[in-house]
Amino acid sequence: MNSLQNYAIICVDDEPLVLQTLKEQLKRSFGSQYDIEIAETGEEALEIIEDLQEDNIEIPLVITDQIMPGMKGDELLKKIHGKYPQILKIMLTGQASAEAVGKAVNLANLYRYIAKPWDETDLNLTVTEALRSYLQDRQLAEQNQRLQLMNAELQQLNSSLEQKVADRTTQLQQAKEAAEIANRAKSVFLANMSHELRTPLNAILGFAQVLINDVSISLEQQRNLEIIQRSGEHLLMLINDVLEMSKIEAGKICLNEQILDLHDLLFSLQRMFTLKAQSKGIDLHFEDLVDVPRYIKTDEQKLRQVLINLIGNAIKFTLKGEVRVRVQIKKLEEIQWKSETFLEALNEGYSPAIPVLSIEVEDTGIGIADSDLKKIFDPFVQTEIGQAVHGGTGLGLAITQQFVEIMGGKIMAESVLGQGSVFKFYIKTALVELSQIQDKPITKKVIGLAGNQPQYRILVVDDHWESRQLLINILSPLGFQVQEAENGKIGLEVWQHWHPHLIFLDVRMPVMDGTQVIQQIKSQDKNTVLIAVTASVFNEEHLHLVKEGCDDFVWKPFEYEVLLEKLSHHLGVQYLYQEKENTAHFLPQELTSEALAVMSEQWLQQLYHAAELADSEQIMQLVQQIPITEPVLIQAMTQLVQQFSWDKIIQVIETIHYSKKS
Ligand code: ADP
Repeated sequence: MNSLQNYAIICVDDEPLVLQTLKEQLKRSFGSQYDIEIAETGEEALEIIEDLQEDNIEIPLVITDQIMPGMKGDELLKKIHGKYPQILKIMLTGQASAEAVGKAVNLANLYRYIAKPWDETDLNLTVTEALRSYLQDRQLAEQNQRLQLMNAELQQLNSSLEQKVADRTTQLQQAKEAAEIANRAKSVFLANMSHELRTPLNAILGFAQVLINDVSISLEQQRNLEIIQRSGEHLLMLINDVLEMSKIEAGKICLNEQILDLHDLLFSLQRMFTLKAQSKGIDLHFEDLVDVPRYIKTDEQKLRQVLINLIGNAIKFTLKGEVRVRVQIKKLEEIQWKSETFLEALNEGYSPAIPVLSIEVEDTGIGIADSDLKKIFDPFVQTEIGQAVHGGTGLGLAITQQFVEIMGGKIMAESVLGQGSVFKFYIKTALVELSQIQDKPITKKVIGLAGNQPQYRILVVDDHWESRQLLINILSPLGFQVQEAENGKIGLEVWQHWHPHLIFLDVRMPVMDGTQVIQQIKSQDKNTVLIAVTASVFNEEHLHLVKEGCDDFVWKPFEYEVLLEKLSHHLGVQYLYQEKENTAHFLPQELTSEALAVMSEQWLQQLYHAAELADSEQIMQLVQQIPITEPVLIQAMTQLVQQFSWDKIIQVIETIHYSKKS
């Protein structure tokens, strides 16, 4: 069949005349766009439809008569509908029964019926409407198909997106795990480092303490030991600081507020830095503390480190002149900083009436250029002149600023190049009532064990000879029985035959480490007290040890008092005490004529003479002759020598002579 059109309408009727009329009428109206095909039987119509379909000609409409020999109209339509449901069907009914139309409607989705004889206009209208409806449906179907395609594409995209998300999640999970492993490795490294450094330092500090407690040593030796102790403590603090910086970076740092003897802290800093300042010919001056409360609540470690950094820098970067430390308790509103830092604090909602500890460290040193001032608190920043003066790390001020901020404060610096600098900071603080400090351990010196107590057996297990010796040196003279073991295995053997009351146990040891010893002992005997001696800073390890049954910890380097306190806590040990001198002697002391009056006239004359010659060595020899019952005088004299205050000594001696004469 040859068709010029893409669309065809099929007409079926057994009466050739009717068929011809129908064809002509349709051709007139629709011939330009549609082929009009005719068939005289249903069978023929089906064949034509097949042929047209094969030629890819679309059939929007079939119009058929009902009554025909062979296949009836409704039957034909039913068949067409079964195969091509989209084709619209119209029935031409003559005397056709309503039943046939009903069947065609139900079974073939009949679109319309047209009664014979029809009116041409009616036919045209019906067919036009049918064709429009067909095209519309086809469009809808096409759109629907497109939508379905898009939907399928979307679904594919979606599932590939889900796959991507799943892949990315797995990657992230792997990255997170890798980071966690790296972080754990860093923690282990820090723990090891801290252990390696603290263990020998523990021996240095501990032996210095052992020697200081020795009553037979001279004042000179005592002073030298104190220097060893202070330097060791400073070194310890530096180690702590590197760890601290790592902890700041890891977000692990927190505020540790305790009651602090501020005067004691400041005076210990003065003692620590005086020698250094003197060696450079600089005057280190702590301004009057009269109005500064002695006890405040703050984070002592951090405040100490901040001051060490600032005073240390001030001395380091000053070639002549002086370094002044000014300490005051103020209200925040009384701080007169001409800087944004202060305004920032107010913006952060601090109450202006809040009391703060305000400290200024001022020097007459090399100064800092304006351009450098802004960045000196950044890690690893050093000014050009700063670098020339010494090769530090540039970490000090970064840590200082972090610590000040953790303590709820702010820090800033002002400077004039070539004239000097002043570093000012404040921290939030709470003043402490005297009643609150009653609980502080009384600083009494332990001289031995009280009577009527069991013979305490203490075992020290540590692979470091020095660490073992240190504990033995502290404990044996007090009257404890002490045995030692150099690893866990030997420790267990000693424990089995000697039954110590308490074991000080190093955690990390070769052969058998502390954890294994704890497991072995605690599985057989719950009574032996096990105290882990650790240099680790990480809490995870401590939690683990507690789980294993460890009773307590002491941290290296341990404080003498803490160690003894642990023994008394766990074993009920009671000590004999010798009252330590009042801690007041640590405060700056005024040299008075009354205090000097206890010394002999000859001694006073020698002192006067030595002061006139500014002979500090001679004066210190004279100081050694002051009886130990006069600690305040010893302290005052030592300070004056450290400050080169010869005039003051001369002046006080002259007052005595003057009053004697008059
Ligand atoms: P470091 O002292 O190890 O170099 P800091 O962070 O403490 O590190 O100081 C950073 C830099 O700031 C110093 O190198 C120095 O250039 C400058 N600086 C700090 N304090 C002073 C000061 N008091 N006077 C002059 N310059 C200073």
